[in-house]
Amino acid sequence: MYYDVIIIGAGPAGISAALTCQRNGLKVIVITRKATNRDVKESVCYSLHPGVEVLFSRLGIISVLNKSTISRYSKIVVNGKSNTLGNRNEKWSGFHVCRSKFYNELQRCLELHSIPLYKKSLKRSDIIITEDSVSICLSKSSHLNATYCLDCSGKSRILSHQSSFHSMYYSVPLYCWSGTQRNRSINDRFDSRGRLSIDGSFITWQAQHSRGIDTYLRITKCKDLLKHDINQGKYFGIELDSVYNVTWRLLRPTVGKNYMFAGDAAALIDPGAGQGVMNAMITGSVAAKHLYLCMQQHSQAELYKFEYDRWLMNYFESKVEILQREYLNLGFNVTMPVYA
Ligand SMILES: Cc1cc2nc3c(=O)[nH]c(=O)nc-3n(C[C@H](O)[C@H](O)[C@H](O)COP(=O)(O)OP(=O)(O)OC[C@H]3O[C@@H](n4cnc5c(N)ncnc54)[C@H](O)[C@@H]3O)c2cc1C
Repeated sequence: MYYDVIIIGAGPAGISAALTCQRNGLKVIVITRKATNRDVKESVCYSLHPGVEVLFSRLGIISVLNKSTISRYSKIVVNGKSNTLGNRNEKWSGFHVCRSKFYNELQRCLELHSIPLYKKSLKRSDIIITEDSVSICLSKSSHLNATYCLDCSGKSRILSHQSSFHSMYYSVPLYCWSGTQRNRSINDRFDSRGRLSIDGSFITWQAQHSRGIDTYLRITKCKDLLKHDINQGKYFGIELDSVYNVTWRLLRPTVGKNYMFAGDAAALIDPGAGQGVMNAMITGSVAAKHLYLCMQQHSQAELYKFEYDRWLMNYFESKVEILQREYLNLGFNVTMPVYA
């Protein structure tokens, strides 16, 4: 079976890329692995930036938000003051979504738009990149072939082992974990504000997503501090193996011979800013548009890939600059020391 584009990963980046490819008339398929225990953990809640609403509407999949939203948050409060963590003019009405429902609904969109989804956990050796095509081995007797491949596999970055890619780091090492906290009385008034607090060791995002239950996300420079959280018993739903390395990083470059990277696979910034899903969807969609241009004008493909890589780098670095400043204002320095 021959496709224009094979997308690896059915997270926000992969889904937004697949829908954009299809809208542009490309023949596309998505390959993703089966849900893990973490994926189906009901209690995990994600806080999404209000900007995602426009993206979902444009892609014609607003039902994903309608079906997975538990509640909305009205603003972010930092040290008692309102903050937008970025653009001062933004009106804040973000979404708290149930993570497992959100991912399920995203994947259901593929079915609704008749985009094939194949479930397999790919190994690096399953992917063969040649001069002018990509071949993916599904089983001993079955292969998929395509002109291009888009790696939206999140932190796995499965295609980054194909050539001499490297990560550029933009922050000191940062680690995060998330879960729930039941420290409110069920009779308390619903507080729709999200709170970001910073002490010397932690950035903590905390927000009430349903009556009596808060969701939280903790970011720290020292991952051993998770043990402190577990011992304290104040935060629930965490295990020692659920620490994620969220050091800000950008893949260099974000394009290869006949493949590209989008979402966390291309660029990752800590999720304390609540923009992970939004960034993944934007980069997935922009990557797909560039793949379309590459398909339309083969002779100009190198130029379009270069254009995408530059765009992504500028987009990422502008986010880094804003967030670095915000965190510094709050007393949490994430910048890497410069040695003379
Ligand atoms: C603890 C934690 C909490 C977070 N909270 C928030 C939040 O509240 N709000 C927010 O906006 N962001 C949050 N984020 C960030 C957000 O999860 C990511 O930025 C976003 O999911 C990136 O989307 P993606 O599509 O690039 O990758 P992912 O969502 O990671 O999707 C990658 C996909 O690729 C598939 N895949 C991976 N490897 C393979 C393989 N070998 N073969 C086949 N398929 C593969 C996976 O199964 C998955 O479907 C959080 C992150 C963490 C770690």
